[in-house]
Amino acid sequence: GLVYLNGEWLAPEEAKVSVFDRGFLFADGIYEVIPVYQGRPFLVEHHLARLHRSLAAINIPDQPEGFWQDLTNQLITRNQVTDGLIYFQVTRGAETKRSHLPQTVLTPTVFANVSPLQLHWDTPAPANVVLYEDIRWLRCDIKSISLLGNIMLKQFAEQRGAIEPLLHRDGSITEGASSNYFAVKDGVLYTAPADHLILPGITRMWVLQLAAQLNLPVREEAFTIRELAQLDELFLTSSSREIQPIAKIDDIIIGNGRCGPLTQKLVEAFHESKRAHLA
Ligand code: PMP
Repeated sequence: GLVYLNGEWLAPEEAKVSVFDRGFLFADGIYEVIPVYQGRPFLVEHHLARLHRSLAAINIPDQPEGFWQDLTNQLITRNQVTDGLIYFQVTRGAETKRSHLPQTVLTPTVFANVSPLQLHWDTPAPANVVLYEDIRWLRCDIKSISLLGNIMLKQFAEQRGAIEPLLHRDGSITEGASSNYFAVKDGVLYTAPADHLILPGITRMWVLQLAAQLNLPVREEAFTIRELAQLDELFLTSSSREIQPIAKIDDIIIGNGRCGPLTQKLVEAFHESKRAHLA
């Protein structure tokens, strides 16, 4: 498919950026990922709102009104996307003097493409995660392209046969390397609050809304390492995985290792909301 770079539509191998781009030199940029179901972007206003917030947080000038919505639509139509994941990346731009402080206000570098997405219409088999200390910075709420901590933690998890790390800071669970976590204990759904320690996942927000519609009791409170052995259910959320039940944390089996009833309810509600979106 065609990719977008700074106003042009190009074959992927034709898309090139300067070695002086601040994304390359400093990882000075942000990104956003939007799922597309049957040619329609899912929860797009929420994703674009987060994109605007990320840009504002690091003081990169935003694009004109309607730009991102238009680019979203063009990516879908030009690539005839049915199910896919849109990727947006914006860096501060390029200048030949390497300096932590940019010398002027630069023209941001804007890149976008689409990759295939496998939609879930059943309940995924429960997967394993491993506990790690959250070694990332303290502004995890910004969707920064600087992902070294996330990548290291993801590699640690992968080496131990887990799909994700379960990260903790000072004993409290924050999130995953590219997902948010929800725990169930005594019928109550717990997830870390959307502060500077986590990326406010759009899937997380959607699951919270679905839980409210189902009248499930929810607390946006971090659960702790000490409570892990006692959890009834655990699942993670992300745009690509949707709702993924967790069977095991290290050697701790959650519930009986199968998808719990509350997780199952939310998976079904999620599928239902996708069907409503497609209708
Ligand atoms: N946390 C982190 C650190 C992530 O990278 C992601 C995925 N981009 C998420 C959570 C999940 O966010 P979303 O539901 O918007 O995909």
